[in-house]
Order: sequence, then structure tokens, then C-alpha cells
Amino acid sequence: MQPVLSIKNVAKSYGPIQALKGVSFDVPEGSVFGVLGPNGSGKTTLLGIVLDVLLANSGTFTWFDNMPHDVARRQIGSLLETPNFYHYLSAFNNLEITAAIRGKGVDDRDRVLKQVGLFERKDSKFQSFSLGMKQRLAIGAALLGGPKVLVLDEPTNGLDPAGIAEIRELIRTLNKEGITIIIASHLLDEIEKVCTHVAILKKGDLLLSGPVDEVLVSEDQVEVRAGDMVALQDALQTMSGVKRIRLNDNTLQLACDANTGTVQVNEFCISKGITLSHLLLRKKSLESKFIELTN
Ligand code: ATP
Repeated sequence: MQPVLSIKNVAKSYGPIQALKGVSFDVPEGSVFGVLGPNGSGKTTLLGIVLDVLLANSGTFTWFDNMPHDVARRQIGSLLETPNFYHYLSAFNNLEITAAIRGKGVDDRDRVLKQVGLFERKDSKFQSFSLGMKQRLAIGAALLGGPKVLVLDEPTNGLDPAGIAEIRELIRTLNKEGITIIIASHLLDEIEKVCTHVAILKKGDLLLSGPVDEVLVSEDQVEVRAGDMVALQDALQTMSGVKRIRLNDNTLQLACDANTGTVQVNEFCISKGITLSHLLLRKKSLESKFIELTN
């Protein structure tokens, strides 16, 4: 399948600050693609470049298998910053103004309002909306004209928990309707909950990218101790399912493959004549993996 967006070696500096240092990845069609990284890692810069708002210093990107940018642009809806809606106008009339500014989608307002679940409230004033509804209207504005791809920068920033849940649900629904969605976020939780794919940035470098369930697998650790720690470590170094061993506070921490857990480690030690005095499975959270990656 052709990626909807292919980014190759994109670099961008602001004077001495290297915001992006040669970033490459593909966004598969039909994915919810998260660009994840702490503040200042280059997410907004990257979105600005692929939306033709900023110029890269080097590197290339192509939309829809080399479609000319101006044609591709019509297939892309984006929400980089919250649009200025008029508080005293209705949702419907606000979308009329947005459509006029963008020169597209004025006849598309009913469809879009249904798509974001605001059709019943189309004549209500913007000021009567909850935070989640306001953000749904902003996403609705980005959907005018029926784009195939939606690009969102930190779409749940500043929302209350109810609003966050609404927006995440909307993203899932839009994706089920066939829209590819690219989201920049500094929240691991957001990426984990709504994204199928992720690219992790740190200070302008791409650390890794791929399907969320491959890239963000949490790695469990088995902890062991025995009377003779040296013999224990020597023995475990020969065990096939053990990927890494770390000695920490007189305890060995074992990073194991998917088929190796406490039972296998215990059986192995018994077979080597070693009796364990401590055996524990420590679940490593994604949070700690993310912090380890980005720190
Ligand atoms: P945030 O979530 O805080 O917006 P981000 O991951 O989106 O972070 P960028 O906004 O792309 O990151 O910023 C990347 C780096 O480039 C940061 O060091 C930032 O200070 C710098 N930067 C961004 N825009 C400019 C600019 N217009 N002029 C100078 N430096 C900039």
C-alpha cells in the first residue's frame, strides 16, 4: 500500500537551533499516526513543513505518491491552532465564515456538523458550547470539503477530561470512516489510546517509528537473587531467552523475550543447581520506557 505521506531526511534550523535533524518516515493510509515527543522536539515544525507553512532547509516529502502539492493540499484538512470562532454566532454561521476564508466547503456544513456530532446544536451560539464541543467544531472546520487526511497539532491541549474523551472518540470514529489522521502530541497516553502508528522525536532526531504495538511494547523484567550472585550471573548469561542482564543493588534484572518469564528462569536456575532466594516479575510501564527513550 502507498503511504499517504512519505518524509525523507527533512531538516530545519532556526538560526543556531536545529529543530529537525534529518527525519524520515512514512505515514500508512488508513492509520492514526502519532508524532510523539516532549516539548521542543520538533513536532510542530514538522507538521508546518508538510503543510507548506514552513520551508525545510533540506530533505523532501511527498503526499499521495508524488501528487503535486497544490492538488494534494485539497485532500488535507488541518488544525494547527484553534480557529477564531465568533462567540455570538452559531456553529453553522461560524462554519460559513471559515468556509468563505478557505474558499471551500460552504455547502458541506451540514455533513461536517453531523460528522462531528454537532448537527443538533448547529443553531446554538458558540459561547454556549462545552470545551469539547468547541474543539469538535474546530475539527469540523478542518473537515470542510471532505479531506482524506486530517492533521492535528495537540488536539486535546487545554481540554477537561470529558472534552479529551470526546475528541479521542471523534478521532477513532473519523478514522473508521476512512480518514487517515496525523496527530502531534507530547502525551504518551494519547498516542497509546488512539494511534495505530507512531514516530518518536527527541530534540529533532527521530528515535523510532512504526506500529504502536511493535514500537511501544512494554518490556517486563525478571528480578533474581541467590546466595552466590556470581554463579547466578554466569549461569543466566547462557540462558537463551534472556536478552540483557543488569546488576542493580545486589539484584540481577533480566530483560527477557516474550516466551521467557519467572517460571522459565526458575526452572533454568534449578537445572543449574542454583536455588533462588528472590524471584519477581517487574512490569515496566510504557511511561518509563518513553522517559528512558526521550531522556
Ligand atoms: P511544542 O510542543 O513545545 O510546540 P514541538 O515538539 O512542537 O514543541 P517545535 O515547536 O517544532 O517543537 O520546536 C522545535 C525547536 O525549534 C524548539 O527548540 C523551539 O524552541 C525551536 N523553534 C520553533 N519555532 C521557532 C522559531 N520560529 N524561531 C526560533 N526557534 C524556534
